[in-house]
Amino acid sequence: MTQAYNKPLPVPQVESDVYWQKAKEHELWLRSCNACGGNAYFYPRDISPCCFSRDTEWVQASGKATLYTYAIVHRAPHPGFVADVPFVTAMVELDEGPIMATNIVIDDPTPENLVIGMPLEVVFEDATEDISIPKFKPV
Ligand SMILES: [Zn+2]
Repeated sequence: MTQAYNKPLPVPQVESDVYWQKAKEHELWLRSCNACGGNAYFYPRDISPCCFSRDTEWVQASGKATLYTYAIVHRAPHPGFVADVPFVTAMVELDEGPIMATNIVIDDPTPENLVIGMPLEVVFEDATEDISIPKFKPV
């Protein structure tokens, strides 16, 4: 696709800079809480949501997940998405445990093709030179 990206873009924050840098390299990284023995969590933030420890670190995720829940969007929420409908918004459960909001990349988004628990793997949409957005596709 050669036309300019016309959708709202994520704005990396201090605590998520690494996440977006790694996404640009087509790698999915999570934060992990050392105080809880390596409990991975999402979204990225310095203080763990499990025990509020600051003893946390970045870890690379496998990129594997399962479909937790989804919705098929038929009416574009923004002019930038008009060409995309119908598309799938979803929550996916990463193999590392966290559940994240994302899109499912699938040619024919119907309930028959979207099965809760189905295996998925991460893919990256290069939105701009600086931002690549993690999405998931059926394995
Ligand atoms: Zn913890």
